[in-house]
Amino acid sequence: MMFERTRKQLTIFFGSILGVVIILITAFFYLLLQKTLQHNEIQKLDDLKNKMAQQWEHRVEEQAKGIRQVDRKNVEWIFLLSDELIVWVSPDQKTQISPSRYTSMSNQLLNWSQRYEMKREKGERFYIDESGKRQTFLVSSQILNDVGGVYWMAIDISSNEALLRTIRLILMLSTVVLLSIAIWLAYFFAGKAMVPIKKSYARQVEFTTNASHELRTPLSVIHSSVELLEECKDTLPEFEQHILDSLQDEVKRMIRLVESLLTLARSDSKSLPIKMDKINIVQVSHQMYQAIQPLALAKGIILKLDAPVIEHELTFIHGNLDQIKQLVYILLDNAIKYTPPGGQVTITYLTSQDDRPTLQIADSGIGIPKEELARIFERFYRVDKARSRELGGAGLGLSIAADILTSHSAYIHVTSEEGKGSLFEIEFQPE
Ligand code: ADP
Repeated sequence: MMFERTRKQLTIFFGSILGVVIILITAFFYLLLQKTLQHNEIQKLDDLKNKMAQQWEHRVEEQAKGIRQVDRKNVEWIFLLSDELIVWVSPDQKTQISPSRYTSMSNQLLNWSQRYEMKREKGERFYIDESGKRQTFLVSSQILNDVGGVYWMAIDISSNEALLRTIRLILMLSTVVLLSIAIWLAYFFAGKAMVPIKKSYARQVEFTTNASHELRTPLSVIHSSVELLEECKDTLPEFEQHILDSLQDEVKRMIRLVESLLTLARSDSKSLPIKMDKINIVQVSHQMYQAIQPLALAKGIILKLDAPVIEHELTFIHGNLDQIKQLVYILLDNAIKYTPPGGQVTITYLTSQDDRPTLQIADSGIGIPKEELARIFERFYRVDKARSRELGGAGLGLSIAADILTSHSAYIHVTSEEGKGSLFEIEFQPE
C-alpha cells in the first residue's frame, strides 16, 4: 500500500545516512589505530638506532682514552631488547649478528645486507615464514661514524600486525551488527514519521465520509419535496415548470455525486472492513436487470438478459452483495447512458476458459476511442466532458467500479469500437 512504499523509501534514506556514518567512523577509527601503531614502530626503530649509535660512540671514547681496545668480535648486545635484531658489517666486510631468537631472520637479513643498503628512514616491511608462522619485521640501515661500517636493524612487529588483524575482524563484525541495527532503527523511525501522515490522511477520509453522509439527508428531503411539487406541476406557470424540471435534475445529480463520494471515501478507508458472503452472480444479474429495466424503457433501449438460472457451483462468488450490485449497476447505467435510443444493452453470464464466473455487459452505443480506454477508470475522467456532464456523469462511476473490482480480486476487460458499442467483461474469483 501507499504508506508501506513511503515507509520503505524513508527507511532506505535514513538507513543509508546511518550506514555511511557508521562506515566512516569505523574506517576513521581503524586508520587512526594503524597510524598510531606505525608511528610507534618507527619510534622503536629510531630508539634502536640511537642505542646503537650511543654504544658505538662509547666504545670509540673508551678506545681513545685507552681504556680498552675496540673489539668488534665481542660486542655486548645486552642493550638490545628481545624483539630487536642487528646485523653489523664492518668496513673490512666482517659480519656480526646480535644473538636472538630469530635465527632464520638473522640469516635472511645477512643475505640482504650484502645486497642492499636500506636508507629509508621509516624502514621497510619484511615478511618471513618461520616454521609455518609468519613474522613481520621493520628493517632499516644506518652507517656508523669513525669508519665503523654499516649496520642493519630490525624489530619484530608481528604482534602489532596480529593486533591489527584482530581489530579488523572485530570492526568488520561490529559494522555488520551496527548496520543491521541501523536498518532496523531506520525502519522503526520511518514508521514513527508515518504516524502523523497516516492520521491526517485518515482525518481527510473521515471528513469526506462524514460530509457526504451529512449531505445525503438534506438532499433526500429536497428531492422528495421537489417530487411533491411535481404532482402539482400542471398548475404552475410555464417558467416555474421549467425551473422545477431543472431543479429536479440538479438534485438527482447532487445525490449521485454525494453517493459516489461516499463510496470513494469508504473504499479509501481500509479501516472499514467489508463483509464478504457467498453470492449467486446469476441471481444478482437478474435483480439488476429488473432494477434497471425502467431506465432502459424510458430511453427506448432494448435490455436483454442471457443468464439461465441453474444452481451451479460456478455461479457463486465470494464478495459483498451491495458492492457487486453497485458494480453491475454502474456498468449498466453507463451502457444505457452512452447508447442512443433504439440501441441495445445485453447482460450475459458465462464461465471463462479457466472456470471463472464471468459477467458481460455489452451495448450498441457510442463506444470509447482506443486511446481513452486506459483512462476511463481514473477518478473524474470523462471522454466527452460536455456530453457526459449533460447525461449526469461526474466521471466517478468507473473509478468506484475499479475499487470494487480490486477489493474482490476480479478482472475487467473492455473492448470497444467507436460508433458500434462497448463490451465490459468482468471475471470474478469463484467461491
Ligand atoms: P461518468 O459518470 O461520466 O459516466 P464513468 O467513470 O462511469 O463516469 O465513465 C468514465 C467515462 O468513460 C465516461 O465519461 C464515458 O466517456 C466513458 N464510458 C464509460 N462507459 C461507457 C460506455 N458503455 N460507452 C461509452 N463510453 C463509456
